[in-house]
Amino acid sequence: MSKKQFKTESKKLLDLMINSIYTNREIFLRELISNASDALDKRHFLSLTDSAYTSSNPLSIQLEVDRDARTLSIEDNGIGMNAEELEKNLGTIAHSGTSEFRQQLENSKEVDIIGQFGVGFYSAFMVADSITVESRKVGEDAYRWHSDGQSGYTIEPGERQAVGTKITLKLREDTDEVRYSEYLDKYSIEQLVRKYSDYIRYPIQMMVEKSVPKEGSDDEHETIETLKTLNTMVPLWRRNKKDIKDEDYNSFYKSQFYDYEDPLEVIHYSLEGNVSYKALLYIPSRIPYNYYSRDYEAGLQLYSKGVFIMDRCKELLPDYFHFVKGLVDSDDVSLNISREMLQKDSQLQELGKSVTKRVKSALVNMLIKEREKYEKFYKNFGYSLKYGCYQDYGMHKDELQDLLLFYSSNEDKYVTLKEYRERMKDGQKDIYYATGSSVEQIRKLPAIEKLLDKGYEVLFMTDDIDEFVIMMMREYDGKSFQNAQQADTEVETEEEKQAKEELVKNNEDLLKAMGKALEGRVREVRISSRLKSHPVCLVAASDGISLDMEKYLSKMPEGNAAPKATKILEINPDHDIFKVLQKVEKDAPEKVDEYADLLYQQALLIEGFNIEDPVEFSNRICDLMKQASGE
Ligand code: ADP
Repeated sequence: MSKKQFKTESKKLLDLMINSIYTNREIFLRELISNASDALDKRHFLSLTDSAYTSSNPLSIQLEVDRDARTLSIEDNGIGMNAEELEKNLGTIAHSGTSEFRQQLENSKEVDIIGQFGVGFYSAFMVADSITVESRKVGEDAYRWHSDGQSGYTIEPGERQAVGTKITLKLREDTDEVRYSEYLDKYSIEQLVRKYSDYIRYPIQMMVEKSVPKEGSDDEHETIETLKTLNTMVPLWRRNKKDIKDEDYNSFYKSQFYDYEDPLEVIHYSLEGNVSYKALLYIPSRIPYNYYSRDYEAGLQLYSKGVFIMDRCKELLPDYFHFVKGLVDSDDVSLNISREMLQKDSQLQELGKSVTKRVKSALVNMLIKEREKYEKFYKNFGYSLKYGCYQDYGMHKDELQDLLLFYSSNEDKYVTLKEYRERMKDGQKDIYYATGSSVEQIRKLPAIEKLLDKGYEVLFMTDDIDEFVIMMMREYDGKSFQNAQQADTEVETEEEKQAKEELVKNNEDLLKAMGKALEGRVREVRISSRLKSHPVCLVAASDGISLDMEKYLSKMPEGNAAPKATKILEINPDHDIFKVLQKVEKDAPEKVDEYADLLYQQALLIEGFNIEDPVEFSNRICDLMKQASGE
């Protein structure tokens, strides 16, 4: 028998778990019971099509305590593991989330995230000096895995006769801080099972002492040993809503769906009719660590009449609701449905439609009645909803548009499109929006200065995806979206318009000269009606892409070949710089080129573009400083 070392990653993780101070060690039992329950599910599932897997004893989980030996064991008659599986499953932590897990562990010292990372088994080392796993699969030999969690592990032939797995923990000695003996106390164990594992659908049993009347005597009692089922086994979602406490919902969520925070929202209902089913759905209160990566596995658990069929059934919810966790228990779905059949199954499609509708109405409800909560939700998963609007050529936009929130310039908070629409000013044609990297940055954009000054509400869009969404939606409730940084957003009165025409006429030569100086870089230099305190700004012509879209596209691979916005330089006629320009044009027309160029570069900077030649630009500023000081 040779001893094998844990893989480096596993070893580090073990050290971390064992040597840190945890408050919540007790969850190890939940993890081991949940593994046992999974193993029973797997065996049950195979037995549906292969009688070799049928067990002569009912599938169950047995707990056993030996006070003298300081051991606690958890035994199941489930699928079992052979030597290779013991090696693969318990010797290494192959899971891709391991390093993230370690990081979180180091940061938060929060042990309740263990299950999420597929390292639940290891949590047993928080309470055990050593662990022995004896296991046998149907038609194979038995094996024994043993480890002290430090120096490595051994795998050798075992003696176990029954199919299934027995995990024996040798509990640590008590210390001043921790009473590990607690896990030898049957009453404590019973409490833990009730707390964390009550819903497990297989009986979790333990021999307990019970006092019964002594035979042939009226008042004498004797203590006998009897096998007690510790869990009620009624799945939570099949219980009456009014008998369920928030705490029950939350602890079920945390143990089943691997989160350490309570969910933001619980959606529990039962439907009878065309499709009959019960659903227990959760909206997490934080983003799963891998939510926006390929690793994230979406989907709901699928049960049929209380019996588990499949994990992560994706067909029940559209992509944009993939943040929803939970399960659906249908009376109609057939038990041995395969993954391939699922996609075509019309019953399942009906089911999916119904579940999707309920999720949406739960969100609408939250938006109306619990705005703050909704905003919290939106912060985490709003991106998914926006993506849903954009995806599939905008097919779902009508479904989702009223769930979107955007930051409002006037309200200083997130608002819905409906709210915006309802308070649009008289005569306001379009829904105005502006894009940028942050609310603060957008608010300072010269191009929307006057619009804001005149009290128009502008939606600030800070996500890369926002503009794509808007382009896909095109309009909301009969009103078009208008990019406030684009050329057509002048909100001027008749008088203002006339005054501007006058100005344009009087400064025709200046504007032309500047336009010529910037030829090829801007389409036009013109008098602005959108600026208030800034001298210049850039806007994009309405017949092309926006400035932010140009920035976005240039960041993509092949970005150099991406289309560019057609730019227009606007100058503020009320700004002192305008007077300077007029004077330069009159007194030193040879300088117009240089001034136009400087203002253009400044406008690029304000918009967050790179300027063409930063060194040259900075030299010129220095020259101006020298001139100004008469050097
Ligand atoms: P997870 O359960 O999240 O995958 P664990 O570290 O808890 O991670 O377990 C690793 C693997 O070991 C499980 O995925 C399963 O394949 C196997 N395993 C653990 N306990 C049992 C058991 N009682 N019976 C059969 N297989 C088990």
